[in-house]
Amino acid sequence: MNDRTNQPKSAARRATRAGIFSFNFIALLFILACFVPPLVAVPLRIYIVTDLEGASGVYKFAQTREPGHPLGEKAKEYLMGDIAAVVRGLRSANVFDIVVIDGHGSQAFIPHLMEPGARYITGKPRPGPLTGLDDSFTGLIQLGAHAMMGTPDGVLCHTQSSRSENRYWYNGIESGELAQCAPIAGHYGIPTIMVTGDEATCREATKFFGPDCVAVAVKRGISREAAELYPFDETHQALYEGARRAVAAIPKCKPYKLSLPIQAKKEYLVFDSPSGKGRRISKEGTIEDVLKLMNF
Ligand SMILES: [Zn+2]
Repeated sequence: MNDRTNQPKSAARRATRAGIFSFNFIALLFILACFVPPLVAVPLRIYIVTDLEGASGVYKFAQTREPGHPLGEKAKEYLMGDIAAVVRGLRSANVFDIVVIDGHGSQAFIPHLMEPGARYITGKPRPGPLTGLDDSFTGLIQLGAHAMMGTPDGVLCHTQSSRSENRYWYNGIESGELAQCAPIAGHYGIPTIMVTGDEATCREATKFFGPDCVAVAVKRGISREAAELYPFDETHQALYEGARRAVAAIPKCKPYKLSLPIQAKKEYLVFDSPSGKGRRISKEGTIEDVLKLMNF
């Protein structure tokens, strides 16, 4: 008797439970469909271009432009520490395809200090300034960057050549190395998502790329060869966290583009004798192809 009266009830309960289960299951699938595919279906690819002048602990030219100088070898170690912090941050934000390219003129990578989980490109000659960059990448990071020539509080500031004091204008806007790399990535639709360097470099990054580009300062310039250095434990933590924020900011960052043809102007010093002060030369022209920006 009890069995008979209970049977339909428990069947109904089972059916209700099954209904709730399938509803929850469908809701879960819906949530996964809404939020997970962007992370799973399109793996993030990040391209990092490095320079030496903007690394933690670097503040004088003896560290960056005198080949074989013991201070230079140490400075390269500092750079590798900054790179490692950013690579670790990216990997913790589920970026597993990372290319790091050595953008310092005389090259600055120390192979045995490479953080695992990224591919590292160094040496010369190479076909272009950002070898291998194409539209399959999701974001550009400029790491160890420096402010443009003439920035009063820019540690080791220069644009391309610190000795001949080059300066460049594109469509009337003076541009340093930050705004020379970014439009090459912009050509492929890739935004600059993060910049690291001194406080002046961060200010320059925000001016050109907007507040959504994550800027991490590792020192504060006092003059071209004097700085307040931030302790490495602190800069590495800030770089790690900055990389995680930069990945989250990708949807908000816009590629930096220059309208073509680019009206270009360059100023630089020519030295008639090694000890001379140098003559200032000015050159103007038109650049049709943004990929040839650095050839001007
Ligand atoms: Zn540079």
